[in-house]
Amino acid sequence: MSAPLLLNPGPVTLSARVRAALAQPDLCHREPEFFALQDEIRTRLLGVYGLSNTEWVAVLLGGSGTAAVEAMVASLVPTNSRLLVLENGVYGERIHHIAEIYGVAVEAQHHEWGAALDLAALDARLADATQPGITHVAVIHHETTTGRLNPLAEISRICAGHGVALLADTVSSFGGEVIDFSAGSNTGGLVAAAGTANKCLHGVPGVAFVVVRRAALAQATVRSLYFDLKNWCDKQDAQGTPYTPPVHAFYGLCEALREFAEAGGVAARHARYRALADQVAAGCAHLGIREYLPRSAASAVLRSYHLPDGIGYDALHDALKRAGFVIYAGQGGLAKHIFRISTMGALTAADMERLVQAMAALVAQR
Ligand SMILES: *Cc1c(COP(=O)(O)O)cnc(C)c1O
Repeated sequence: MSAPLLLNPGPVTLSARVRAALAQPDLCHREPEFFALQDEIRTRLLGVYGLSNTEWVAVLLGGSGTAAVEAMVASLVPTNSRLLVLENGVYGERIHHIAEIYGVAVEAQHHEWGAALDLAALDARLADATQPGITHVAVIHHETTTGRLNPLAEISRICAGHGVALLADTVSSFGGEVIDFSAGSNTGGLVAAAGTANKCLHGVPGVAFVVVRRAALAQATVRSLYFDLKNWCDKQDAQGTPYTPPVHAFYGLCEALREFAEAGGVAARHARYRALADQVAAGCAHLGIREYLPRSAASAVLRSYHLPDGIGYDALHDALKRAGFVIYAGQGGLAKHIFRISTMGALTAADMERLVQAMAALVAQR
């Protein structure tokens, strides 16, 4: 039997075209051919959201999505700044942890996993002159823990209203959901978005990136050797690279970005994810399997579902894997209650039809 289709939130099932691109010739990362590849990826990443290359820059680095988030937090919150992290899942809590490791002055606005962010509380905290002033806010755009899409544009406007910079983890939304980079300005709002090759862009793991305002990068600080975003950017701007990059992951991302643009960009990818996710949700509803979040709060990229009565996660996972699909467990305390299905990657409506049929067969046997 062929390898199962991946319904976990990255790495994704590759298209044949991206898979073939991985087998291109071995390449030294100090040769002009590599720098042409690097330049094309950086240009295409800005192109995903139509950003001007005078205001914005895409900085690549070797590592998983967390590497990009870590570089963003370690570099873009200068000393004498104070970071507020909006938490409503695993990844928001991870940013808080990263900031603590680097000794960044940080506080959290904590919410239960899956809860809506309290934007009035954010606005009040940014306005509160009786507490230490907040200079930066960090938020997860798509909290993959539950599939909740946080209102990034609204948060960016609130931050801009207070002259506060916003750093976004867009690791599981970049390319698949709308990101309004213009909701902020040079003096506040969204200044950086961290992403990765192997989620909505359909590349392979190994290369991650931060799309950042050049003005914010100019004020960057250095807290780490490897996660020094400005160093990566300066070297890349000068047709260079500080360290050995994952050359084959670059090949994959470049081809994935070409395919992405040809297929119609963010709008087309979002519509495709949404159609597949709605198809799965409708099939699940028919089997009595309920969505974990209200539909209006959920992303198109990933949806969480309550486990069906009488079927534990392991039984569901194993049966679906035998049928050719890898689903994803809940994290932490949610592990016993939910499962997650992502519709990222080279998937079709026919694939989702087979998935729903496999679930129906399992539910019928119960
Ligand atoms: C996947 C993901 C990450 C990074 O995970 P890695 O395993 O480091 O690639 C970060 N934030 C969010 C929201 C994610 O979904």
